[in-house]
Amino acid sequence: MLKKVLIANRGEIALRILRACKEMGIKTVAVHSSADKELMHLSLADESVCIGPASSASSYLSIPAIIAAAEVTGADGIHPGYGFLAENADFAEQVEKSGFTFVGPSADVIRLMGDKVSAKNAMKKAGVPVVPGSDGPLPEDPDTALKLAREVGYPVIIKAAGGGGGRGMRVVHKEEDLIRSAELTRNEAWVSFGNPVIYLEKYLGNPRHVEVQVLSDGKGNAIHLGDRDCSLQRRHQKVIEEAPAPYIDEKARQDIYKSCVQACIDIGYRGAGTFEFLYEDGRFYFIEMNTRVQVEHPVTEMISGIDIVKEMLNIASGNKLSVKQEDITFQGHAIECRINAENPDNFMPSPGKVKLFHAPGGNGVRVDSHLYSGYTVPPHYDSLIGKIITWGATREEAMARMRNALDEIIIDGIKCNVPLHQFLLDDPDFCKGGVNIHHLEKKLGMTK
Ligand code: ADP
Repeated sequence: MLKKVLIANRGEIALRILRACKEMGIKTVAVHSSADKELMHLSLADESVCIGPASSASSYLSIPAIIAAAEVTGADGIHPGYGFLAENADFAEQVEKSGFTFVGPSADVIRLMGDKVSAKNAMKKAGVPVVPGSDGPLPEDPDTALKLAREVGYPVIIKAAGGGGGRGMRVVHKEEDLIRSAELTRNEAWVSFGNPVIYLEKYLGNPRHVEVQVLSDGKGNAIHLGDRDCSLQRRHQKVIEEAPAPYIDEKARQDIYKSCVQACIDIGYRGAGTFEFLYEDGRFYFIEMNTRVQVEHPVTEMISGIDIVKEMLNIASGNKLSVKQEDITFQGHAIECRINAENPDNFMPSPGKVKLFHAPGGNGVRVDSHLYSGYTVPPHYDSLIGKIITWGATREEAMARMRNALDEIIIDGIKCNVPLHQFLLDDPDFCKGGVNIHHLEKKLGMTK
């Protein structure tokens, strides 16, 4: 077993990883920037190290600073969490080269899946259905590009191979706009991601975002932990997630699980991962894979009873998966609301001092948050300050518990998006379930 793990992250996920390590008897090293001295997990960790100034480029994104912290504290493993360096193949490589265990897949697999063109091709080879489009990069030659788009059929979406975070995408409705849009996206891709490669796919009209959680030990054993629906998005950012995804064709669901598990074995996947799909008219279409723990992993934990972070640590320690597919049964329904420090009216960040924090409770309520009364949310990082997750025997019960939790939570001193969640939990379409990826933005437009 790993003996001492350095947690290369901050906020709620750092606390989540620390809790898992403590349960497993693994010692912990917390690292933080000079703006993050008040983070809750620092006082709970065995050791903590300041790795740089507030700017993430010089702290949470600094590979030498993190590796040096692991060296001075004698850690044997590094857990990257999500965001920051979690999907940086060079980081994973340098961690391993420096003699530490990276809690995640190999650098080669991160690299393969980090490029969306190579990821789509690998998935196609493994038999996973992908969104139809250019098999590979979109050629620069206008005639070939136009011919390709015509074959796929308009509307199409042009995407950056190295893109992420909902950026580097452009929808094209008419043939006359294709070449200009391709050029713009190529330039943007070069400036934003340092990689000018773009590709093209069919733009699906009303899909849902449904993803499959997997665990794989890299020793030939892989399982799935079911699916999640993350269709409630604003600017391609998830706001509410749930498990399982409602109203999915059962045959399509079982087939996609099988394909994901097989793909893990085919690519020698190690760790926790997520296959993201668009789901439309009863069919799944692969869009990308995330090679790390995700923000929304708790909804899966609540219905499967599996602790995903502990499994990640177990796998990274060189052990086989501790559970088999047939041991896993799914029970009930879980919903997660992401709590952001932001103005619910205009979505502007709202950092500052939390005068009072009171967490909700009760049967089936889980709160993953690093907040406490007196804590100051710094302005330098992502605005996620916590997650409320509720479980119920039915979707209705999970929703009722979430409404209670949102009524009970108190965050005084800063603005947060609890009113947005309350609004959505009362939305008849969301209450019915199965809304598509455009629903939230349409709803927000209607209310303005
Ligand atoms: P990123 O890595 O930036 O998150 P993704 O490829 O995962 O990009 O896509 C993000 C979101 O963009 C999806 O959840 C979906 O809402 C939308 N999207 C992506 N591809 C398509 C497509 N082919 N058709 C329709 N919507 C799409």
